[in-house]
Amino acid sequence: MSLAMGIVDLVTGQAKEAAAQKINLVELEVGRLAGVMVEALTFCFEAAARDTPAQGAQLEIVEVEGRARCLACETVFAADSLVMQCPKCGSYATDIVQGKELRVLSLIVDE
Ligand SMILES: [Zn+2]
Repeated sequence: MSLAMGIVDLVTGQAKEAAAQKINLVELEVGRLAGVMVEALTFCFEAAARDTPAQGAQLEIVEVEGRARCLACETVFAADSLVMQCPKCGSYATDIVQGKELRVLSLIVDE
């Protein structure tokens, strides 16, 4: 819920800066490894947006695949959890390089 409220705060702030009256659509990038439940977020966003310029705005979520890089052999591979074993050398010393994103990509507003 606090996450949804943070997003609503952010987008209403941006809409205000653009002197927009109403937000129609929010495009949000969410990494698969960000620990975000997309359905719950959509539901909470609707509730948090009530009585703000974001009320009724559509939340469009762009999911980003998880990727990790092995610190031992530099192999980059698909990751579906935060703790991954390198498929090439078997090392657990890996870094998540993609998939923890959580950011607003764009807004569509009424001026
Ligand atoms: Zn490796």
